Amino acid sequence: MDFQAFLIKYAEIGIKGKNRYIFEDKLVSRINSALKRIAGGFTVSKASGRIYAVASEPFDREEAVTELQTVFGISGICPVVQKEKMPPDELLKAAVDYFGKAHPGFAGSFKVLATRADKSYPLDSQEINYKVGEAVLAAFPETHVDVHEPDILFRIEIREKVNFYSETIPGPGGMPVGSAGKAMVLLSGGIDSPVAGWMMAKRGVTVEAVYFHAPPYTSERAKQKVVELAEIVSRYAGPIRLHVVNFTDVQMHIYQNAPHDELTIIMRRYMMRIAEVLAGENGCQALVTGESIGQVASQTMQSLVCTNEVCELPVFRPLIAFDKKDIIALAEQIGTFETSILPYEDCCTIFVAKHPVTKPNLGIIKRSESGLVPEIDTLVKTAIETEECIVCAK
Ligand code: ATP
Ligand code: MG
Repeated sequence: MDFQAFLIKYAEIGIKGKNRYIFEDKLVSRINSALKRIAGGFTVSKASGRIYAVASEPFDREEAVTELQTVFGISGICPVVQKEKMPPDELLKAAVDYFGKAHPGFAGSFKVLATRADKSYPLDSQEINYKVGEAVLAAFPETHVDVHEPDILFRIEIREKVNFYSETIPGPGGMPVGSAGKAMVLLSGGIDSPVAGWMMAKRGVTVEAVYFHAPPYTSERAKQKVVELAEIVSRYAGPIRLHVVNFTDVQMHIYQNAPHDELTIIMRRYMMRIAEVLAGENGCQALVTGESIGQVASQTMQSLVCTNEVCELPVFRPLIAFDKKDIIALAEQIGTFETSILPYEDCCTIFVAKHPVTKPNLGIIKRSESGLVPEIDTLVKTAIETEECIVCAK
C-alpha cells in the first residue's frame, strides 16, 4: 500500500480553547523535527482542526511511525492514501482498491464514514457512505457492515484531495514539548532520572539538565554516559542543554568536615542548591529529580524533607510513587535502560557512608552544615561559574 501522508490526531490539546493554536503550532514544529530524521521529507500543515504530514517522496512507513511515536501530544497516527479528486464512479473503484490493499483477506465488519470539506463534490457524505459501502461489500463478500461497532472504520475525506484511511496507530499521548514551561532535571547516570525527565517532557515541559561529576573520582566515560542518556531523552524532548558541574571540591570539603553518616544528605542538599541557581539563570521554573519514596536511604520521607528544604523552586519528582520495576519498564520503553546500567561510577557512590542516616534531623543537618561555611560558599560559587554546557540532541 502506498501511503503518502499521515493524519495526526491529538487529544488533550484539542480542549485548550483560545490557546489551542499555540499547542497546535508546537505540535507541528515537533512533528517537523521528528520527521526530519527520516529520508524523504514531509510537509506538515494544519487544516481545520487536523494536522497532516504529507510525504514528498516514497518513505518507509515503519520508520516514519516510529519517529512520530516520539512526538508528545499525538494521540493517534493514521496512514493516509491521497488521490487527486475524481468523479464518483472512479471514487468507488479507488475506495475498493484502497480497502483491498489496506486490509488484505479481511473478514469482519466495517463502516464507511465520509466527510466533504468540498461541498461542490457531486455526491454528499451520505451518498458516499452508502455507495462505497455497497461497492466494498460486493468486492469482498466476507465483509459486512456494522454501523455501531465496526472492526474497521473506513474514512473518506474529500478535501483538496481525496483522503482514504482506516487505521489509527496509537501515539505517545501527552502534550507537545514547549507548551508547559521549563524545568531543570538533576540527571545522573542512573536509571531513574532520565525517566523522570522523559515524563516531564511528556507533559509538554521543556527540559534542561544538570549533572554533577567529580573528576578524577568519576571518569570522563561516566560523563559521556550522561550525555548519551540526555541524547536519548532528546529524541522525545527536543535538544537538551546539559550543564556539567564539577562537584569535586564541594564534595571533598563536605567529606572532610561533616559527619560521615550525613554525607549523602548534605551532598544532596548542595546539589539542589546549585541546581536551583542554574535553574534561575536558565529560566527554569522548577527542579526535577528521579527520586522515589523509600528507594534508598536518601529517599526516605525524612531525607526528602531535608533535601527539599534548601529549595524555593518547586521540586517535581514524577517517579515518587513508582516501584523500581515499573521505572525499569519505562526506561526500557524509552531506550535509556541499556545505557543506564553501564557500570560507571557515580559521584554519590564514591563518597558514601557505610551507614547513612535514614531519618535525618533537619536541625542536626543544619548544624553540621554551619561548620562548612564560609569555605563551601566559595567552592559552590566556583562550581557554578565553571559549569560546562553541552547541547545534547539526537
Ligand atoms: P538515579 O537512578 O536517577 O541515579 P538513584 O536511585 O541512583 O537515582 P540517588 O543517587 O539517591 O538515586 O539520586 C536521587 C536523584 O538525585 C537522582 O534521581 C537524580 O535526580 C539526582 N542525582 C543523583 N546524583 C546525581 C548526579 N551525579 N548528578 C545529577 N543529579 C544527580
Ligand atoms: Mg544514582
